[in-house]
Amino acid sequence: MNDTSTVGRREELCRNLESVRARMAAACTQAGRAPDSVRLVAISKFHPASDIRALVACGQREFGESYAQEALAKQDELVGEDILWHFVGGLQSKKAKSVVGRFGLVHSVDSEKLARELAKRAREARVLQPVLIEVNMGEEQKAGVEEAELPALARLVLSLGEGGFGLDLRGLMCLPPVFDSPEEAGPAFEYLRELRDGLAAELGVPLPELSMGMTGDFEAAIAEGATIVRVGTAIFGPRPQRG
Ligand SMILES: *Cc1c(COP(=O)(O)O)cnc(C)c1O
Repeated sequence: MNDTSTVGRREELCRNLESVRARMAAACTQAGRAPDSVRLVAISKFHPASDIRALVACGQREFGESYAQEALAKQDELVGEDILWHFVGGLQSKKAKSVVGRFGLVHSVDSEKLARELAKRAREARVLQPVLIEVNMGEEQKAGVEEAELPALARLVLSLGEGGFGLDLRGLMCLPPVFDSPEEAGPAFEYLRELRDGLAAELGVPLPELSMGMTGDFEAAIAEGATIVRVGTAIFGPRPQRG
């Protein structure tokens, strides 16, 4: 790539970032929420480390990845940059060891097996790994714990943080079905918030984080109480095909 196109790409990314931030701020105002009550995680899967570096230079600090191998390679490429990494993809138990301690937040704990494996690896590494539980929002989805099993999994995750090393349960995440319009996503987000409120009351813990909302529906998610939105396409443009 020549210098002109590199500069062009950087400007495009920064412009997109500013536009997403402005839309988030407007959604916060509309909902009567403080602008700093929602964090933006830029979902960088399939995009190169150079794009991430450009966005860091425009002030973006939190990035999310969905595939462990790809994420770890980018982390290695970007050592020294001030980045807080999120892991948002489906995670196999056998990959638990490679992600523990390398992501500020793992959004996708959805089984007892994965929780136990992550906790074991966290204890070995003597870290307290912040996590969210991913909740299944529709039968066409494979990921996420069923609502009926959520309380038991949450209790387990809480118990896996006792003693200071292991897992630190911060809240819930969802990836609802793709709707035709953002308005249709609202009830799904409202539902996750209510699940969170009920669970927090039942277990007597705060569970402050709600990770919900992507490019097509982050404003609706903010209206329903999202504390973390995960935005890829609106910042980076369409994802390149995976090679
Ligand atoms: C890819 C991905 C996103 C970003 O999706 P966009 O529609 O591009 O904003 C958010 N969350 C998860 C879990 C993802 O896998």
